[in-house]
Amino acid sequence: METIQTDVVIIGAGYAGIAAARKLQDAGKSFIVVEARDRIGGRVNTEKLACGATVDLGAQWIGPTQHHIWKWAKETNTETYDCYDTGKNILAWKNKISTYKGTIPKIDPISLIDLGIAIERINKLCKQIPLDAPWTHPKALEYDSMTLHTWMEKNMYTKKAKHLFNIGVETVFAAGAHEISFLHALFYCHSGDNMEALISIANGAQQTLIKGGTQGLLQKIAAPFQDKIYLNHPVLKISQDENGVTIESEKLSIRAKKCISTIPPALLNTIRFSPILPQRKAQLLQRVPMGAAMKCFCIYKTPFWRKQGFSGQIVSDTLPVRVTFDCTNKDDDFGVLLVFVEGHNARDFIEQPEAERKEKILNQLIGYFGEEARNILEYKDKCWTEEEFSRGCYAGNMPTGVLTQFGKTLREPFQHLHFAGTETAMRWNGYMDGAMESGFRAADEILRNY
Ligand SMILES: Cc1cc2nc3c(=O)[nH]c(=O)nc-3n(C[C@H](O)[C@H](O)[C@H](O)COP(=O)(O)OP(=O)(O)OC[C@H]3O[C@@H](n4cnc5c(N)ncnc54)[C@H](O)[C@@H]3O)c2cc1C
Repeated sequence: METIQTDVVIIGAGYAGIAAARKLQDAGKSFIVVEARDRIGGRVNTEKLACGATVDLGAQWIGPTQHHIWKWAKETNTETYDCYDTGKNILAWKNKISTYKGTIPKIDPISLIDLGIAIERINKLCKQIPLDAPWTHPKALEYDSMTLHTWMEKNMYTKKAKHLFNIGVETVFAAGAHEISFLHALFYCHSGDNMEALISIANGAQQTLIKGGTQGLLQKIAAPFQDKIYLNHPVLKISQDENGVTIESEKLSIRAKKCISTIPPALLNTIRFSPILPQRKAQLLQRVPMGAAMKCFCIYKTPFWRKQGFSGQIVSDTLPVRVTFDCTNKDDDFGVLLVFVEGHNARDFIEQPEAERKEKILNQLIGYFGEEARNILEYKDKCWTEEEFSRGCYAGNMPTGVLTQFGKTLREPFQHLHFAGTETAMRWNGYMDGAMESGFRAADEILRNY
């Protein structure tokens, strides 16, 4: 087994790991990044398809208040462009198709008021949750004892508003409202400004796309220290003693003074620790399940729906096409329509044969855009629950009782081991920007003690 010595070893080469590496590089420290996959990016994965179109199979959008990632985009002269948001959106409900503009579908006035009040209440409540310690809010225990679904049942009155709200929740969390603690939901909304920002294109989390993809941007940042990134080394064990830490993969052993782990909590739970993790931290890792999401890309010769006056955005009550976006690349001839399948629907859908998945999606799209939707160049989907080193996405969600009992251990270092990853972020938790914040923070913790 090869043994290497360094000052800091970083586990994971996603946005969190590369952010930590960048900070240590700038500070002139020696470090090594160890990554399980054969590529950098983690939950970010830009792929060129057989037809020639490029798609982001993982994270793709950035929002206006995600300052860390904007800084990297500017620094690397990476072009960004607005996600297409012009024309009529489609609402397909109870076998009827209507069109609308903006984020909220045109529905009957009572349901619309119900939905509007619910979003406004969440926006107001979430602002009161302290981002550094949600568990200290005076009503933390009350909020953490119920799911977001329970809150909806108590505070929303119409079936349609609840259904639409839940589609929004699935799009944001990749999980159903019944799977998430209300405290976590409020924290998450505050972390990303508010619920409206999380579900919106304009001024929201889906506003901007990165030319060349989100993995391309990360590769540019990592280029100066590429030789310090060791790919194909899943870490199996982390051992610590008085003087430092040793991490081991099957073929590699790295001895360092400090370690930053960016492995998501659910997967960190599979690593062997010596000495073992403190009991509260270990129990936290048992309780942060990843959401489930599939991105299904339909590539056409052109974004033909635009000529028909459509934005490419659909919200429907029928599966599999629940929510769609026009993700056509700037300066590209291809038309790229992205269909999201989320939560338990993703787990069900991926179990069907690929040909059936494609057929079902196309048949539904034909119902909205006509026969032109049949003329697809390529279909590509990916379910992140199948990825060995993610096992889900977009991030780990907190069920009831987790934040109040275990939240304080999220960022707490253990001896020489520091914890990063988007799940530990205060701002934009669950997003690339949050991953960067966490990487910078963990690197700072180490630099402060040098
Ligand atoms: C389908 C999808 C859509 C998304 N959409 C968006 C979006 O539009 N905008 C946005 O901002 N965010 C989005 N996200 C979320 C975003 O991708 C994540 O928040 C962010 O990339 C997390 O970065 P990270 O570095 O914290 O974690 P990761 O990217 O998961 O990095 C952790 C790294 O650790 C590695 N690893 C795991 N186990 C081991 C081990 N044992 N040994 C060594 N290495 C290991 C992994 O391979 C991985 O590279 C999306 C995610 C997905 C999957």
